Formats: sequence, C-alpha cells, structure tokens
Amino acid sequence: MAKKLLVKNKILKRGVHYLTSDYKSRNENRSTHNGMDFVGSVKQDDIVAIEDGVVNYVGYDKGGGGNWISIKTNGIEHRYFHLANNTTKVKVNDKVKKGEVIATMGETGNATGYNVHFAIYKNGYVDPLPYLMNDDPFNIKGCTVLDDFYTTFVKSVQALVGVEVSGIAGEDTLNNTITISKNINRKNGLVKVLQIYFQELGYDLGSYGIDGVFGPQMEKIVKQYQKEVVKLSDKLIDGIITAKKYTWKSLLKL
Ligand SMILES: [Zn+2]
Repeated sequence: MAKKLLVKNKILKRGVHYLTSDYKSRNENRSTHNGMDFVGSVKQDDIVAIEDGVVNYVGYDKGGGGNWISIKTNGIEHRYFHLANNTTKVKVNDKVKKGEVIATMGETGNATGYNVHFAIYKNGYVDPLPYLMNDDPFNIKGCTVLDDFYTTFVKSVQALVGVEVSGIAGEDTLNNTITISKNINRKNGLVKVLQIYFQELGYDLGSYGIDGVFGPQMEKIVKQYQKEVVKLSDKLIDGIITAKKYTWKSLLKL
C-alpha cells in the first residue's frame, strides 16, 4: 500500500507524492529494485529536478525503464524513469535548477501505471532516500514514513457512519454513507474528514481551508474529482457526494 513520504527535496511538482515501492534494502520483496517508485496526488504529475545539475543522459531504456533522464550533480547521477512520451523538457548538457520541471510522469517501460522510478547512480545504484531527505546526502536522520492517509480516511468515515472501524472499506461502509453537498449535511462531521482527504490528494481547499463546512470551494473540488478521478460524464458531474453512489465508491476505493 502506498505510503506518504515526507521528503525535503521535491520530486513532483505538486509536492505531494506517495511511495509505492521502496529501495531493495528496505523491501525484501523487491530485492532487485534499484530505486524508489512514487505516484503523485494527481494522475500524471510533472517531475522536477531534486537538485541543480547538468543533464548527462536523455534516452530510452529497453530493459524496462522506458524514457529516462539522468542529471549529474557533484559526480552523482539522479535518474528518473518511466517518463511520458514527448514530455522531456531537457537535452544533454542542459543546466537544470532544483525544482525545474524536466518531464511528465508516465508509464513507459515496464511501469504498472503512472509513476516515477527514481534512482541514484554512483559507481552503481545506491539507496536514494538519503538524497531525498536531506541537504547532507549521508545524513538520514528525520526519515519519516507516515501511516498512509487513505486508511486514516476510511477509519474516520467508518467511525462517523457507525460501522466497525477496521480501516478496510467494504460494502458495509459504503451502504452507510450519507449524502454530502452544499445543501445537504453541509456541516456534518464527514465534511471535515473529506476536506482533509481531498487536501491529502492534492486539491486546493482555498482560503477557508479545513473548516468543516461544505462551501463553494468544496463543491468545485468534488466536481473536479468527479471529472478527473471518477470520470463521470458531464451530465453526472454535480458536486454532490451522494450516499452509496459513485463518488463515495471511488473515495473508498471500492
Ligand atoms: Zn521502480
């Protein structure tokens, strides 16, 4: 299951990213995995350079990496794989700045869905985590992998709709959901839980932030979510989280 990983050096433009597969030394199931995989809070986020550097390779890896870019900083190569076709914004010898967009996340090579495989090469592949965590690449203090926020969301919903709090959503949870909208249950406790969840997903709550009230900004977010994630037809995009229906189903990943 995806974990939210707080890192100092951003790798995705939107700033929220989830670790889906760890480097081999921390994951015995992936003993040959030479980097770390991240997915974004939006389906296809842009990838940014984690440090200033010079592009030393742009190409395609037939071994499964797909489109990839390598950027060299102080003799260390930062490598980004599975880039979407025709999105690479840099060429060999270009100087890039930390935070600069270099390409868009894709699924080229043997990627399972949109993700970025990030690797560090220094006389062979090494664990990327220290490089993402700190200015000092050999100091890994402060490394934090949080409980994933989806489970927290499910538990909160379960508590509020009065079903067993297991953190695992099922039909029982879905069947007890209620309608939430600008006009219905607009101050229900679930609104706050939903706001926190949407924020974690990368949506902008606007100036009111997490206030527990379903206002115009929440309606906008729900419509955006219905369009982009639930993929409802225009006719069904209504900004209403209807009891037991598609939007709840999608939020609960059912
Ligand atoms: Zn990978």
